[in-house]
Amino acid sequence: MSEDRPLHQRLALVDVNNFYVSCERAFDPRLEGRPVVVLSNNDGCVVARSEEAKRAGIKTGTPWFQVQGRAAALGLVARSSNYELYGDMSARVMEVIGRFGAWQEVYSIDESFIGLPGDEGVLRSTAGRIREAVWRHVGVPVCVGVAPTKTLAKFANHVAKRNPGLDGVCSLGSVPDGEIRRIQSRVPVTGLWGVGGRTGTRLNALGIDTIADLRDADPLMIRKKFSVVLQRTVLELNGTPCIPEVEERADKAQIMFSRSFSTPVTGRADMDQVMALYAQRGAARMAAEGLRASVLTVTAGVSRFAAAAGATGSGEGPSGGAAPVPGASNPVVSVRLPAPTQDPIVLTRAAVAAMRGRMVPGTRYVRAGVMFSGLEPATGQSTFDAFAGEGEERDMGSLLGNVRARFGEAAIGLGHAGLAEPAGWTMKREFASPRYTTEWKDLPVVSA
Ligand SMILES: [Mg+2]
Repeated sequence: MSEDRPLHQRLALVDVNNFYVSCERAFDPRLEGRPVVVLSNNDGCVVARSEEAKRAGIKTGTPWFQVQGRAAALGLVARSSNYELYGDMSARVMEVIGRFGAWQEVYSIDESFIGLPGDEGVLRSTAGRIREAVWRHVGVPVCVGVAPTKTLAKFANHVAKRNPGLDGVCSLGSVPDGEIRRIQSRVPVTGLWGVGGRTGTRLNALGIDTIADLRDADPLMIRKKFSVVLQRTVLELNGTPCIPEVEERADKAQIMFSRSFSTPVTGRADMDQVMALYAQRGAARMAAEGLRASVLTVTAGVSRFAAAAGATGSGEGPSGGAAPVPGASNPVVSVRLPAPTQDPIVLTRAAVAAMRGRMVPGTRYVRAGVMFSGLEPATGQSTFDAFAGEGEERDMGSLLGNVRARFGEAAIGLGHAGLAEPAGWTMKREFASPRYTTEWKDLPVVSA
């Protein structure tokens, strides 16, 4: 766990329901109640579905031409993907969610973990208020799962989604353990965050079929036979938080780099450095996978707990409950790129510029990230883009890549990203326990 997160608090996973479709519906109420699908670039295949479309048996990845013939009979509406809209809606959703959390980890374009202090009653009402606020201010529906660990918060979110009677909120602290166990014994182990099909098959061979089975498995055996990652999942299922912030992740919808800093970033120059580094790592990742992005999103976050313990003594303490903090504390900014690109120069400029416009100098940012979405295959030459200046080499990305491959990651970079000496904020202490006895801000917090 990163060190600014006090123990003994809950966290919530807030996830937008059918995100792309919900964005479309926010601006076109006629789509409400109808089966709706969103198509990939060039209207190739189905990438997102409304509940009604799921019930009609339309699968993600189905080529549109195979569905088109049945569309009229089904009353099915198709929309081309509008990644600029989704990126901007995502930024708005994240800003609203961030107001309620002690910390925020933007996990994907439509999911965010946040830290929630308070007792069970406060947690439930805060979760409900998050849902209302996102609906009122942005116009998309979210579900909120509240639990002591990330894995359980994901599970709680899943329960909230599947049970309309819960009004989109499930806080595991309000559910008797027997009931939780009963639900877990009906959900296949592959329904769990981070457990893929292949791992599922191997678990099944050991008689571990459901989430409840995995919860009861011996963590050491799981570590020996599988991995420390799956062992963490077992521990998390039993209520011990141990999944750290994931620094890099990628799926079909987005590529994301984010991290917590051991030393808060306060100045523009340092934040520029962080943005430049992630933009270039994203560019390298996309080059390696043959992808380019149409939308770039930058995020940064403060810890309200760290702020409360700061030298000024101002700011809200953990006992302040879930009162919103100004949105500027957790800026999330989304930028449509002039054209889909994997160009490190364009991406670096866009990331640095987007964050500069929103960060407040002097604020102690404890985490930041860059996300690339609207991904598509990079076919042919990248088109002209407005961010690139005159005379810049178009194949800068491969040049940087070659130098890195020969001389190491820090050997070269744009702006401040090429650093032989690691910057202060890169000194990460991911598995360090809090300095309970020597650091005021690490004192355990007890809420009564
Ligand atoms: Mg979602």
